[in-house]
Amino acid sequence: MKIECIKTYHLRCQLDQPFGFSQWFYKQRNVLVVQVIASNGMSGWGECYGPADVIQAAVEKFYAPKVIGREPLSVDATWHFMWRASLDFARAGVMTAAMSGIDMALWDLKGKALGLSVSDLMGGKQRDYVPCYATGMYYVDLPENKLLPHLLEEAQGYVDEGYKALKIKVGKNPEFDIEFIRAMRARFPNTILAADSNHAFDLSEAIKVGKVLDECDYAWFEEPLSPEHIAQFRQLSDKCITPIATGECEQTRFGFQKLLGSGGVQLVQADLGYCGGPSEALKIRTLASSQGLNMIPHVWGTQFNLASACHFLATAYHEPGRAEEKPLFLEYDRTENPLRDDIFTHKVVVENGKACVPTGHGLGVAINLDAMRPYVVCETETK
Ligand code: MG
Repeated sequence: MKIECIKTYHLRCQLDQPFGFSQWFYKQRNVLVVQVIASNGMSGWGECYGPADVIQAAVEKFYAPKVIGREPLSVDATWHFMWRASLDFARAGVMTAAMSGIDMALWDLKGKALGLSVSDLMGGKQRDYVPCYATGMYYVDLPENKLLPHLLEEAQGYVDEGYKALKIKVGKNPEFDIEFIRAMRARFPNTILAADSNHAFDLSEAIKVGKVLDECDYAWFEEPLSPEHIAQFRQLSDKCITPIATGECEQTRFGFQKLLGSGGVQLVQADLGYCGGPSEALKIRTLASSQGLNMIPHVWGTQFNLASACHFLATAYHEPGRAEEKPLFLEYDRTENPLRDDIFTHKVVVENGKACVPTGHGLGVAINLDAMRPYVVCETETK
């Protein structure tokens, strides 16, 4: 079997209701989907996290011509072949995102070719269901005195659907954030809560907000600081009990080695469509595990990334091991996303806040090409 063709699809949808977070408002969603087709006609699918049009060029112009003709089951060998091909000028960034989508597609293809799920390929399932946390509570265009009750009502909807864990957005401004953090805890005393600032705070603001998260017993404080200021993570961690989570902006075992070296990160959040793909995510997990840390992937995109993360968590060994382990939660973004919800024939089934680990071959999810077609902005084919 050989890799015969690589196709890419830049998908875009306009949102009915724009939503915002600490950095900007989204009016549309974009994603790059990668299809690797083997000489026996089988296809594997993956996706990349980041600017779809730029990553599309990296796949089409750079990696795809090099990967065509390779044996598709040797996934790790192909990863290192791609890595060496771009090492001199692209050890991180959108080129690594491009590699991630190809790598994810090769895992899907390998599972289909061998009749195994990606969980099987990753070492075997430790669990059939993975608990999810609902990511939501993004900002809408309302004054703060109306925004807060609006966000609490949104959160109530997820609790009513059966979610035991929720993640809110913070980083608007510390005064609003602190009021929101406390209001969430008062309204949901028995729900696991986490807060994500998307690197909005300086160190003193992060400590101030972190102390309120401590007081309100939040499960983690996500991206409290800029990923560039690694030493500050340790300074924050020394002042707060709430675990500090980060990593969605980081890539490869080499990047994570530096990030975790600060000693100020307690929860690792690489994105499988960005960090280097499932192959590299497993290495990052091993690195994290060697420091007693767990990894719960960042997920933002289609069913391909969601399924990849679900298989990854199904196979996770919790650090430290114990009979009544703490759950490792799958991120389930609840914002409007037709590219995840409307164009797949087989999806990750989430009920009562729990994801059933797909049992089909490969990733176990399937896209409907006809349903995808209206969202395609640009497609490429390399043979
Ligand atoms: Mg985040």
